[in-house]
Amino acid sequence: MDFSFTDEHKTLRQAVRSFAAEVAPTIPELDKKHEYDRKTIERMGEEGFLGVCIPEKYGGAGMDYISLGILSEELEYVDTSLRVVMSVHVGLNSLGLLQWANEEQKQKYLVPQAQGKKIATYALTEPNAGSDVAGMQTTATKEGDYYILRGGKMWISLADTADQFLTFAYTDKSKKHHGISAFIVERGFKGVSTGSIKDKLGVRAGNTGFINYDEVAVPAENLVGLEGEGFKIAMTCLDNGRYTVAAGSVGLAKAARDAALKYAHEREAFGVEIGKHQLVQRLFAHMVRGIETAELLTYRAGWMKNMGLRNTRETALAKWHATNVAQECADAAIQIHGAYGYSAEYPVERFWRNARGARIYEGTDQIQELIQGQYALGYRVDKPLRKELPKYEPSD
Ligand SMILES: Cc1cc2nc3c(=O)[nH]c(=O)nc-3n(C[C@H](O)[C@H](O)[C@H](O)COP(=O)(O)OP(=O)(O)OC[C@H]3O[C@@H](n4cnc5c(N)ncnc54)[C@H](O)[C@@H]3O)c2cc1C
Repeated sequence: MDFSFTDEHKTLRQAVRSFAAEVAPTIPELDKKHEYDRKTIERMGEEGFLGVCIPEKYGGAGMDYISLGILSEELEYVDTSLRVVMSVHVGLNSLGLLQWANEEQKQKYLVPQAQGKKIATYALTEPNAGSDVAGMQTTATKEGDYYILRGGKMWISLADTADQFLTFAYTDKSKKHHGISAFIVERGFKGVSTGSIKDKLGVRAGNTGFINYDEVAVPAENLVGLEGEGFKIAMTCLDNGRYTVAAGSVGLAKAARDAALKYAHEREAFGVEIGKHQLVQRLFAHMVRGIETAELLTYRAGWMKNMGLRNTRETALAKWHATNVAQECADAAIQIHGAYGYSAEYPVERFWRNARGARIYEGTDQIQELIQGQYALGYRVDKPLRKELPKYEPSD
């Protein structure tokens, strides 16, 4: 067993830290105004972050899956809205295309995404269907060389920003999960419109919105995988998205801990710095336990991806644990700050608001709990897939 990061990982961590430190001063104002900055996403593309673990032959940086984790962690150390870009663009979309798209689709869509020239997202959730994916109502009806898309998606990260959407729709509703298919939809296709959701609790410096598909003619060649394979594609995309959420949550938890550490050394009560009080020390002890276990579970999942091992259970466990740890650390950090933690003068209330969403998206706490229970009891077993996510192949 080797728990160490390579020199390449350390260099990447440093590069992301410098980038994130530059962006950090803009976040409180954006968060306050509920605004996002598309330029920041474009800069991530210029830095090569948007293709971090996509092979070089598809325009990416050719790094490993641990690197994707480090990137997610360091971005969310500053703000969740920055990491969300990794989750949807790289985790939920580009890695999905790497696994399931054909060569023409990879050249046309994956390459510009990995180069940061096009922004992508993942459109699964609908107004009436979140956890219950088969409850979706969007349909795609084959007419000649096109599929006509009718319906809409809700709570989609980067809905107003992305150029291309990996969209899921029923091609045959009678087959339930086996009747869902996946499509690449371009913003420019006639009948696509988007809007933003206002007044969210968290991720306020990021964009979350809805997409309407009004009789959108999607070329048949934009079907990803086979007809009826959409549910499997959606779930394997979540294996990667959840990994970035877990890693990001480790970053958020560390940011909360570090803010609390600084404050605990500065603030005095009863004649000593508050860190000297044992009940405050207990809050730190719990943070340390949570962060280190979350880190281990997360990077184990990254290692499994590098090895080409199926990691649905391990990634779901990391996501479930790390998102709860992040929430607990942000909560403890507020407690340590006392009344000041309750004010936007310090970042910890933003951390707490941002941590809350990750216990809902990419599978709620309850869904993660069910997954673990079902695996434990043997009701859920991984079956071989028609196409697996490629294992990491280092370049020479
Ligand atoms: C900030 C943010 C960003 C998002 N980004 C995206 C995105 O980019 N793309 C995308 O497709 N979606 C996105 N989502 C949507 C998100 O994935 C869904 O909100 C999530 O899957 C839950 O679905 P729901 O909100 O419809 O809740 P529901 O599924 O209606 O669940 C409501 C409650 O019932 C519980 N519940 C449901 N079923 C069960 C069950 N079988 N057993 C026990 N409890 C159950 C849930 O745990 C939850 O507590 C985002 C959401 C947020 C908040």
